[in-house]
Amino acid sequence: MIDLHLHTVASDGRSSPAELVDLAAAGGVSVMAVTDHDTVTSCRDVIESARGRGIDAITGIEITAVEAGRDIHMLGYFLDIDDAGLAEFLAAQRQTRVARVERIAQRLGELGMPVDFTLFLAAAATRGQSIGRPQVADAMIAGGYVTSRRDAFDRWLGAGRPAFIERAGPSPESVIEIVHAARGLISLAHPGRTCLPDSRVSQLVAAGLDALEVYHSDHDADTVSRYAALADRLGTLRSGGSDFHGDPGYPLTVGSVSLPPEHWDRLRTAAQHRH
Ligand code: AMP
Ligand code: ZN
Ligand code: FE
Ligand code: FE
Repeated sequence: MIDLHLHTVASDGRSSPAELVDLAAAGGVSVMAVTDHDTVTSCRDVIESARGRGIDAITGIEITAVEAGRDIHMLGYFLDIDDAGLAEFLAAQRQTRVARVERIAQRLGELGMPVDFTLFLAAAATRGQSIGRPQVADAMIAGGYVTSRRDAFDRWLGAGRPAFIERAGPSPESVIEIVHAARGLISLAHPGRTCLPDSRVSQLVAAGLDALEVYHSDHDADTVSRYAALADRLGTLRSGGSDFHGDPGYPLTVGSVSLPPEHWDRLRTAAQHRH
């Protein structure tokens, strides 16, 4: 199994790097990438632990771009996690997240659901850790206001719900530039969930987008076929992975979605040529 979309406690996942690698080993994973939101802080530990288990691990990230008020998740792979420009960009992304979470918490207070701020601030203070709505959801569960992360998004935190706060963010084009400057490859995450028009995906490919995440736990067989065909038509590579967060509400395991080996070979070869 080749799983290139995984989260840890550095963002909104529930596994430590070592635990994630244990789960990958149990799931028969041979190649993995941790892709936390706007942070690369778990990459080194995952790569280190994976080496000890005979698993090939590469660097990865999931960056939130914003366009017309909508989030566009973009995956970076094989990037140089010590790149200074990347580090500066990610620190700003995480700072924006803290400011947004503070506003959400304030709104929840106004809605009669005060949440414990110390939880967020402790997480935000930890070097390189990123916070977001899932951690707000966890505080809401702790406060007894909702029963699960999904419940929190459905009723309060999702787009258009009462505690939704608009966010600002970089364009997809600038994210492509930043990942390329860090010598990485960039893939459009879960296009079946993001639902950009094909014409816009085509523009992003012209701007340097390297791959589409064809294989993802939210993609049914038709969606996989649709984006496999689009990737072929646009001449891009393919990526794929489970998007495992360790959420008890989701019956999802590490390695449950795999990038087919021939597409992994193409991705790796492209990265070697890039370096
Ligand atoms: P944020 O980073 O603050 O924009 O939060 C978005 C993240 O929340 C996504 O990357 C998902 O991991 C998670 N998420 C989005 N929708 C849901 C949902 N309905 N239930 C649980 N988690 C969700
Ligand atoms: Zn997430
Ligand atoms: Fe995502
Ligand atoms: Fe993800």
